[in-house]
Amino acid sequence: MNISNLFNHKKTIFSLEIFPPKKDTSYNTIYNTLLKLRGIPADFISVTYGAGGSQAQREKTIEIASLILATYHTEPVAHLTCVNLDRQEAQDTLEKLKANQVQNIMVLRGDISPDVPPKEDFRHASDLAAFIKQYDESFNLLGACYPECHYQCESLEKDIENLKIKIDNGVGHLITQLFFDNDKFYKFWDMAERAGIHVPIEAGIMPITNIRQIERTVALSGASVPAKLSRIFSRYGDNPKALFDAGIYYATEQIMDLIDHDVRGIHLYTMNNVETAGRISDAIGNILEAENTPKNAE
Ligand code: FAD
Repeated sequence: MNISNLFNHKKTIFSLEIFPPKKDTSYNTIYNTLLKLRGIPADFISVTYGAGGSQAQREKTIEIASLILATYHTEPVAHLTCVNLDRQEAQDTLEKLKANQVQNIMVLRGDISPDVPPKEDFRHASDLAAFIKQYDESFNLLGACYPECHYQCESLEKDIENLKIKIDNGVGHLITQLFFDNDKFYKFWDMAERAGIHVPIEAGIMPITNIRQIERTVALSGASVPAKLSRIFSRYGDNPKALFDAGIYYATEQIMDLIDHDVRGIHLYTMNNVETAGRISDAIGNILEAENTPKNAE
């Protein structure tokens, strides 16, 4: 199914991001539990693509996306980065996705490693989008966007100008980089609209529930940390259980505010943490159901 159709009958969609687990972890435990979310089932699940961009990583993403569709009957989105991809590899990947009925692809450039020179066929996610649409129009394309500007771009204005190329080349649905300050998202959304970007934008939310995430994710994403969140870190940083609860509380409040501002979707970066996904879905399940029920149907 082309997941862009979801926006025709739902006001606010709910989706999850997972990553392929390490070699020795069983897929089934993770995905079974993820798909039994207590509060609300996910409208789709996106599967990331390993940063190295190797053939084996590609296979793994395709395998898990296909498993999600065939076994759990939930629509998958397969991420595909193009920094280490040539046209032939892109075509082979599309063939495999097609053979497995995976219709939705998140087109990405990927990060450029200082040790591996990028391949030359695709410079930007927008180039990959154009290639896929020319190859087979029926693929539905998603893309990434950055409320606080992509780290390699000189300004948010320029980044949004570049984002428009991605949309013009066939991307019809955006998911943001994680952020903690909703005002940054609202400002970005407004600027994107004014730049002629009218496709649905889902807000990427990652609950910070353990100390490792504070050190890694927060530093790597470059997302600004509002005073309220930084107080949570300093108050509960040495108390894992309290930090977990406080992280869920902060993310839930963030989501409530986004729903109140009529955001088109919430995309939860689960980090394959079943407990986190379950707690968030419990907290917002009834609210999303109410939002998606037409008023005259109540
Ligand atoms: P692009 O859209 O190509 O943008 C990269 C830079 O180039 C930006 O600074 C942009 O302003 C500029 N630019 C874009 N188009 C043009 C143009 N036509 N001309 C000139 N400049 C241009 N990484 C992974 O390795 N695997 C994943 O699964 C993965 N999933 C992600 C999911 C989401 C929702 C997000 C937000 C990021 C994800 N990433 C993933 C990280 C992503 O690969 C990096 O952020 C990467 O640095 C940029 O990818 P992009 O697709 O946004 O690139």
